[in-house]
Amino acid sequence: MKKLMAANWKMYKLHSEARDTAEALVKAMKGVLPEDREVLIVPPFTALRSVRKAIKKVPGFALGGQNFFPSMQGAFTGEIAPDMLTDMGCTYALAGHSERRHILGESDEFVGKKVVCGLERGLGMILCVGETIDERKEGRLDEVVRRQMELGLAEVPLDVAPERLTVAYEPVWAIGTGLTAGPKEILAAHALVRSILLEKFGQAAQQMRILYGGSVKPENASEILLLDNVDGVLVGGSSLSADSFSKIVTA
Ligand code: PEP
Repeated sequence: MKKLMAANWKMYKLHSEARDTAEALVKAMKGVLPEDREVLIVPPFTALRSVRKAIKKVPGFALGGQNFFPSMQGAFTGEIAPDMLTDMGCTYALAGHSERRHILGESDEFVGKKVVCGLERGLGMILCVGETIDERKEGRLDEVVRRQMELGLAEVPLDVAPERLTVAYEPVWAIGTGLTAGPKEILAAHALVRSILLEKFGQAAQQMRILYGGSVKPENASEILLLDNVDGVLVGGSSLSADSFSKIVTA
């Protein structure tokens, strides 16, 4: 199983900036991308086409969407359908990112609809889960992650191809704050995620990737990537520059 090194560019970069960063990343990775790593760029919708062009035919690179509406088409002003992402060359999409849960009010149930809809439409889905600082302080990490996963995966068929389902553990208090969960915290949370996947999907869950996200930087990436049950990283801030993200990819 290749480690998935995902760059979430959030609402940053005009299309020309995204193209330049993607081109710089391809250049930086030429000949040095480790065999066991897959690079995933998740730019804003308006940059999908430019990034697609920059990474087209580059082995080991993939394109993802940050979001979509769980319906084929219709009167959903401002939304985008999963087929519009695949049409742009996306093979992955995120669901349940904490910024969408906490800023845009997306519920666990709605996130679950996206996960199953994206899988049905051929996307590899990355379900993001994680606790807030208050939930952690109240000792509710297990309860929160279990609820987000149970509802987020509620309608996923039990025979889903394991490589198409990924969970990203992203403690909300570590996203964009410069705070990173320590090795013990990551180990415990990832073991919990793995056990919930095993309960639902049986041994196939060993082949599902679990990513860590939350202030991953070139300085801490290698330590995180060596931990048990860490099958890649989801990176925001440090993925915006080709220089820092390429250091993370090869860490
Ligand atoms: C993210 O956007 O999922 C993320 C983890 O952001 P950052 O790396 O900036 O904390």
